[in-house]
Amino acid sequence: MILGILGGGQLGMLLCQAANKIGIDTFIYTDSYDSPATNYSKLSIIQPYDNKDSLNDFIQNCDVITFEFENIPYETLDYIIKSKPVFPNPGINKIIQDRLLEKDFINSLNIQTTKYIDVNSVKEIPENIFPSMLKTRRMGYDGKGQSVINSLKELSLINLNIPLILEKKINLLKEFSIIVTRYQNGQVFTYEPIENIHKNQILHTSKIPCSIEKNISNLALDQSINIANNLDYIGTMCVEFFLDKESNLYVNEVAPRVHNSGHLTIESYNCSQFESHIRAVCNIESKKPIKINNSEMLNLIGDDIKDYRDKKITKGHYFYDYEKKSIMDGRKMGHITKII
Ligand code: ADP
Ligand code: MG
Repeated sequence: MILGILGGGQLGMLLCQAANKIGIDTFIYTDSYDSPATNYSKLSIIQPYDNKDSLNDFIQNCDVITFEFENIPYETLDYIIKSKPVFPNPGINKIIQDRLLEKDFINSLNIQTTKYIDVNSVKEIPENIFPSMLKTRRMGYDGKGQSVINSLKELSLINLNIPLILEKKINLLKEFSIIVTRYQNGQVFTYEPIENIHKNQILHTSKIPCSIEKNISNLALDQSINIANNLDYIGTMCVEFFLDKESNLYVNEVAPRVHNSGHLTIESYNCSQFESHIRAVCNIESKKPIKINNSEMLNLIGDDIKDYRDKKITKGHYFYDYEKKSIMDGRKMGHITKII
């Protein structure tokens, strides 16, 4: 069995490591020379995502195909699915890639998101949307394409010539995420809520257990399963939640892939989010995730990695260096998970 993975970043790298562990070969297709996943994959191609010859080669050599980031061009996924199964279904990306369609979808399931408006088409901006976050509808990640807007006056200074969404800024008490894996027979497993701390809109630390009330946790778990079922999702996905100071729960966004906050599942569970994803998309025997340890994960961003490269790693700490060729500010370079 050969699993094709579109994208070559650290999520792809960790998927390859999990696949190797359970005897599945991988084939990475990436458009970047600086792709950590290629170091752990038996096969790889580095070509633009619209190169038909390379795509044909990739398709012919894979039994099933998945992706490690959601912004793979839709045309690429659409081309592949004509001849080989792709999980999760690319149609899901069409919704999730676009923050407006994503929020409309979530609300259609009676699940609350932050108040939002399609700022390009709405005639009158309601005053009560401020303070707000202005976000690009597409291609945003790690806080890219976002800015805080406090008033109509501030908004009027902005050139609204690309599709944008304006959403109410939440008075955050906590952020957490839930990782869900759904198999091809409809079986669904969840991991327990993971508490996340962001710095400059980039994930900084994740930990379990997450300190939230049981009723909030249960509601969020139900909502995550509901979203996975309604998307007919196959594989591992993540739902990011906001909890405000009045204990209101909101879905922030859905990631149709394995997620950074779930890195700690490698050390904390009998079956990581990566292994679960592979089992689900390759349609092999399911494994219920059972927690074995509590843990905390720290992202190493930009120069942070330098200190750790020479450090002696102590017992109970697991250090991952993505070995990216260049260090850049705000770029995820590695992570460290600590058993607690
Ligand atoms: P990305 O796709 O870049 O992860 P998010 O929408 O998840 O974008 O935003 C990144 C982070 O920015 C969030 O995890 C949160 O810390 C902060 N943030 C985003 N939107 C809001 C909001 N409406 N209210 C408060 N904080 C927000
Ligand atoms: Mg996010």
